[in-house]
Amino acid sequence: MAKNKIVIAIDGYSSCGKSTVAKELAKQLNFVYIDSGAMYRAVTYYILQNEIDLLNPEAIDKALTDIRIDFKNGGNSCVVLLNDVDISKEIREMRISERVSDFSSIKAVRIALVHQQQALALRHNIVMDGRDIGTVVFPDAQVKIFMTADPKVRADRRYKELKANGQNVSLEDVFENIAHRDYQDTTRVESPLRRADDAIVLDNTNINQEEQLDFVIKEVAKHCPQCVAHLLS
Ligand code: C5P
Repeated sequence: MAKNKIVIAIDGYSSCGKSTVAKELAKQLNFVYIDSGAMYRAVTYYILQNEIDLLNPEAIDKALTDIRIDFKNGGNSCVVLLNDVDISKEIREMRISERVSDFSSIKAVRIALVHQQQALALRHNIVMDGRDIGTVVFPDAQVKIFMTADPKVRADRRYKELKANGQNVSLEDVFENIAHRDYQDTTRVESPLRRADDAIVLDNTNINQEEQLDFVIKEVAKHCPQCVAHLLS
């Protein structure tokens, strides 16, 4: 049986900067970065666009077989392709954020995406961020980080990011969406968000991006010295 390559799992609450840390870490280590949240967002986008009936399990299964998600990592951007169409921008819209936690709690959706996520680690060393990466997708990941931050700080950061991307949103709506997703993601039956017993907590409420990166690189160095050897030479 093929053996997994090295996996660094970064889980945590919505909008606490997981992807920023994960992307930069992957770049430094020369690993592939996978945004598992983007996969759930892509499925949500497809279901909404195609008006799939969620009460019809066959329609969901058919949709899942019709969906192909690919990533193109380039520089600091990560392009998400759904059946060869770039949907990177659309999946960040509030209409997707408002529904993604509903759809990601569907068992068939999780089975299909977890399978794809695990397949990626057969071919590449990866940094993957999400909610269940260290608990369900890769319980044997070499490094596990669990990120958190004050919800108000998270909402403020996400609000500024959405505004900078030209989206017409209010801070209150962003805060409510984050609180709602935290609640749904931590209380759902299927793979709820929780810290893996062997994950180290990174609370970034009061620390900057450089300090966060420093923290995770030190953590990687503890568990996988060969992964960071090139950074120390
Ligand atoms: O990471 P992001 O905030 O883009 O994820 C969007 C949503 O996708 C989360 O709120 C969660 O409901 C779902 N998700 C998940 N499992 C993952 C990654 C994301 O359920 N591994």
